[in-house]
Amino acid sequence: LTAAAQEVVDEIEANNVDFLRLQFTDILGTVKNVSVPATQAEKAFTEGIYFDGSSIEGFVRIQESDMRLTPDPDTFAILPWRDHEDGTASARLICDVVDTSTGEPFAGDPRGVLKRALDRAAEHGFTVNAAPEPEFFLFEHDEDGRATTKTNDAGGYFDLAPKDLASDVRRDIIYGLQQMGFEIEASHHEVAEGQHEINFTYDDALATADNVATFRSVVRAIAAQHDLHATFMPKPIAKINGSGMHTHISLFTEDGVNAFHDDDDEFNLSETAKQFTAGMLEHAPALAAVANPTVNSYKRLVPGYEAPVYIAWSDRNRSALIRRPAARVPAASRVEARFPDPSCNPYLALAALIHAGLDGIERGLECPDPVRENIYEFDEAKREEYGIDTLPTNLGAAIDALEEDEVVMDALGEHVTGNFIKAKRQEYDEYRIDVSQWELDRYLETF
Ligand code: GLN
Ligand code: MG
Ligand code: MG
Ligand code: MG
Repeated sequence: LTAAAQEVVDEIEANNVDFLRLQFTDILGTVKNVSVPATQAEKAFTEGIYFDGSSIEGFVRIQESDMRLTPDPDTFAILPWRDHEDGTASARLICDVVDTSTGEPFAGDPRGVLKRALDRAAEHGFTVNAAPEPEFFLFEHDEDGRATTKTNDAGGYFDLAPKDLASDVRRDIIYGLQQMGFEIEASHHEVAEGQHEINFTYDDALATADNVATFRSVVRAIAAQHDLHATFMPKPIAKINGSGMHTHISLFTEDGVNAFHDDDDEFNLSETAKQFTAGMLEHAPALAAVANPTVNSYKRLVPGYEAPVYIAWSDRNRSALIRRPAARVPAASRVEARFPDPSCNPYLALAALIHAGLDGIERGLECPDPVRENIYEFDEAKREEYGIDTLPTNLGAAIDALEEDEVVMDALGEHVTGNFIKAKRQEYDEYRIDVSQWELDRYLETF
C-alpha cells in the first residue's frame, strides 16, 4: 500500500467505517456508486474493484463491459448524513475507471478526460486552478413528497433572517460540507426567491471537479433531511434569475507563480491569460454544449437575468461571457467563465474549457478588447459593430456547434462525444416534438 492508501485504511479503522462507496460519474455527470464492505479497502487500493460497466450511461457496449475502479486515496471522506445508531459510519472514495481489456484509463470516464486536459496543461508547464460558484434553489415538497417549485422563503440577494428562512438549512449544508473536507468561503441568499449560493475555496481543477460532484450530493441529501428539494436545474422558474455555476480559472507555473497575472497590464492580466480567454471565446458555441448541456440551460442564457448571452469579455460587466474579477493579490488574478451552469458534468466542462484556453495559447490568439457597456442593451447593429456573436439559443444549435469544433470534440474524445451527442440529440428531439402549456395557452382558443 502507498502511504496515502495506508492512511485511509487507518482512518477507516479509527472511525468504524463499515461500508465504502466507490464513486465515479457517467458521461452525463450523474454520480454512480459501487458499495463494498470496508474490509475490501486494501484490495481496492492494490487490485481495484471490478464492476460491470454495461449498465452505466454511455459507458461501454455489452460485450466489453468489465471495468475496474481504482480509488484515489486523496478523496477519502466520511459521509456526514448517515449517522448510524450503532456507531458505524459510511465513507466514500472517488475512483478512476480502468478498462480491463487494455489496462488503460477508460476513455468514457469523465475524470480521465479531465486528467488528459491537465496533462496538456502540464506539457506547457502549467497547473490549473479552478473555483466554481454553484447556485441552486430550495423548493418544498407536495403532500405526495414530490418536488414543487414553491420556494420556502421570500429572501433576496444577501438578505438576512428572518426573511431568509432557509439559512438554517444552508448552515446544515455548510456543516456537512465542512465535515467532508470543504473549506467554505462564503454563502449567501441569491437574487431569486429560494435561491442560494455557497462558495468553496479554489483547488486544482481535478479536486474542484470532484468537489462539484460531491457538493451536489451533499446539498441534495441535507436539504432532503429538512424536507426540502434542492435543485441544480438551471432555470426552474421563468422570468426570475436562473442558477449558474461561474467557473474561475487560472494557470500556475511549476514554481507556483500565477501565469495569469501581470502587474504592468491595465487589467493585471498576462498575455497568457488573454490568449486563454481568446481561446474560450473562440470555442464558446461548442463549449456551451458541454457547460450548458440541458434543454433548460438555454432558458437561463437570455438577456436580463445576469446570465451571459453574448460572446465577449469584460473587466466589469456581468452581462459578458467571461469576466475578469477584481483580484486583491497577484495570486488571485483569474478569469471567470460565467456561462457554465450546475447541470453540467464538471469534469467534462472543465476539460473542455481548459483545452479551449490552451488552444488559444498554442495559436497565440489575440484577445479582443473588453466590452464595458451592458451588452444586454445592445441592438443588433451595435453588436455587429463590436463584432459580438451570440451563444447558441438552444441545445440543438449547441450540439451542432460542438460537432463542428474539432478542438472541443478532441478535448472530450471520440467515446465521450459519440455517446454525449447521441444522448443530447435525443433529449433535444423529445423536447422539440412536445407540445407545451405555453403553446396551448397561446393558440388553442385563437385558431
Ligand atoms: N444567477 C446568475 C446566473 O444565472 C448569476 C448571479 C450572480 O451570481 N450575480 O448566472
Ligand atoms: Mg458569487
Ligand atoms: Mg451568484
Ligand atoms: Mg461570479
